[in-house]
Parts: sequence; C-alpha cells; structure tokens
Amino acid sequence: MADALLKVKGLKVAYGGIQAVKGVDFEVREGELVSLIGSNGAGKTTTMKAITGTQAIQGGEIEYLGRSLKGQGPWDLVGQGLVMVPEGRGVFTRMTITENLQMGAYLRKDKGAIADDIERMFTIFPRLRERKDQLAGTMSGGEQQMLAMGRALMSRPKLLLLDEPSMGLSPIMVDKIFEVVKEVYDQGMTVLLVEQNASRALALADRGYVMDSGLITMTGKGSEMLDDPKVRAAYLGE
Ligand code: ATP
Repeated sequence: MADALLKVKGLKVAYGGIQAVKGVDFEVREGELVSLIGSNGAGKTTTMKAITGTQAIQGGEIEYLGRSLKGQGPWDLVGQGLVMVPEGRGVFTRMTITENLQMGAYLRKDKGAIADDIERMFTIFPRLRERKDQLAGTMSGGEQQMLAMGRALMSRPKLLLLDEPSMGLSPIMVDKIFEVVKEVYDQGMTVLLVEQNASRALALADRGYVMDSGLITMTGKGSEMLDDPKVRAAYLGE
C-alpha cells in the first residue's frame, strides 16, 4: 500500500461555541483520489481550511509527508506541494488569464518549464487559451473555476485539494470540471476532492468518506460506496 501523503488524526475545529469538526480521522495516500462528501454544514470546508492552515484547529493532528503541519499557512504549503483550490475560486480578478497562470508558478525558477506548463494548461482548458488576455474577473463562473484549477496546477503540486469545484456551474461545465479532475488524477496527481455532487465524486474516487455533523460516518471504496443503499438513500437522493 502506498504511503499516506496526508494524515488527519482526531481533528477538531470550533467557531466560538459551534463545534464544526468533532474528531475526524482520514488519510490520502500517494496517487489516490479521495472524495469527502456530505450535506451542507457537515464540516467539509472547515476541514479543508484546517489542513491549509487558514482555520485554527482546536485539537488533533494534521500530517503531510510524515510531518506535522502545525503553525504553517497556505503560503508555506505551496512550496511543499500542498495546494488548495478554494470554494468560490479566488482568482486574481484584475489580472489576465495568462498572468493568473504565471502567478501559480511564482515559486518556480524554471522559466522554460513554466512556459511549457502554461501551454499544457491551454491544452487541458482550450477555453483559457481563447481568452488568455482577458481579465479573469470578467470570465464566467465555470471559466474562473478552470482558471483556479489551472493556476493551482502551475505550482506542480503533490497534493491537490479541491473544495466543491462543481458548485454553481452549468451541467456542461460540471462535466468539463470532472473530466479535468480525472485527467490530472490519471496523470498521477494525488487529489482530495470535497463535493456535494456525491455520485460524481464517488464515481471517480479510489476511496470516499462521508462526513455528517462534524464526524466521518462512513468510508469505503468509491465504487462500493456508490452502490451502498445507505449512501444512496442519504446522499444520492434515492
Ligand atoms: P457546505 O457544503 O454547505 O459548504 P460544509 O460541509 O463545507 O458545508 P462547513 O462550511 O465546514 O460545512 O461548515 C460547518 C459548520 O460550521 C456549519 O454549521 C457552519 O455554519 C459553521 N461555520 C463555518 N464557518 C464558520 C464561521 N466562520 N463562523 C462560524 N461558524 C462557521
């Protein structure tokens, strides 16, 4: 079995008196695509924020590459290959698409390879090539999601965290986003995918975790969870 790239142990997060994450354990192994699903307010986004150091934790341990992430923020983590595409995307609205992609590579020194990677992003996302000189803030939600993913990939991450990449997108854009997630995974990327679209997320996943009211309530292989009547009843609207 491959080594765990990310290990979350007994994670607890509270907002004032609200216990959003109540002691959560899970791991993501090298080369895996792991989906974290669950209903609104289950604590999925909070868990992602705790991993990237944008939300303080109350208890537990988060290990990446065998070391604790305590005290590290998003900027420290990019250099170590841990990159999140946040819910709501957060592209640089007043920069062009090309400039946003270049920003994703801000820690890299290999100029030639950066240019090659921008070209690769334009191949994965032809829409970005068509619009390469357009300001990111004037693009549609789906286009901004593609750009946010492209920008994250420009840093050449080891572990890509995706928080609800399909949220608010049209069905065609949702198809495109899941296609790209599969493509980067097939190319060897390790991915932790948080999604409300449980059926799509589990269909892609090696393994899945269900989160409910701050706890992991079910786990298993993605394909088996997809067929599990309990999962289907609770999260796939059956
Ligand atoms: P969704 O799918 O709706 O985004 P989620 O599973 O990502 O849900 P979280 O966003 O992690 O859930 O929220 C978990 C709980 O913590 C919710 O009850 C939410 O209201 C609460 N919460 C989240 N952020 C804050 C905050 N900044 N202050 C107070 N409570 C918060």
